[in-house]
Amino acid sequence: MDKQKIYEETVLDAVIYFIKNKQYKEVEKLIDVYNKNRENPPPSYLATRQNMENLRKRVVLSEVVAEYLTVQEHQFHTADCPFCEDYDGSLVIMDESGKMECGNCGYHSDALQFLMSHERMRFTDAFIKLNEMFPEEKDGE
Ligand SMILES: [Zn+2]
Repeated sequence: MDKQKIYEETVLDAVIYFIKNKQYKEVEKLIDVYNKNRENPPPSYLATRQNMENLRKRVVLSEVVAEYLTVQEHQFHTADCPFCEDYDGSLVIMDESGKMECGNCGYHSDALQFLMSHERMRFTDAFIKLNEMFPEEKDGE
């Protein structure tokens, strides 16, 4: 399979991933990125659905968020939500499900979408960053 075809399938996989998570705005962004990169696919064209599912299992969301926000540890991990005027730690970060939600403004996302919305990373860059933070373990343990 050529690089172009793999890239197209990857974008399709990513679209399906976001539709499954009801993150429709991300789908629009992906199509945008796709149109810009069509001639010259980025190196992360191997972000297959399987790789994304595996990555989701490895990601510890609170560690990702802690790179950008101050995370408090109570019953859950919490942080002041950067998407609304919040100083009460309304953003609840659930490592088990890999999701977070703001009780104040309703913002909710997973690690990938957080990097895209908060850090304005492109999908492919966010995917690469998470893979670097949580590398796949080698066989054995
Ligand atoms: Zn909020």
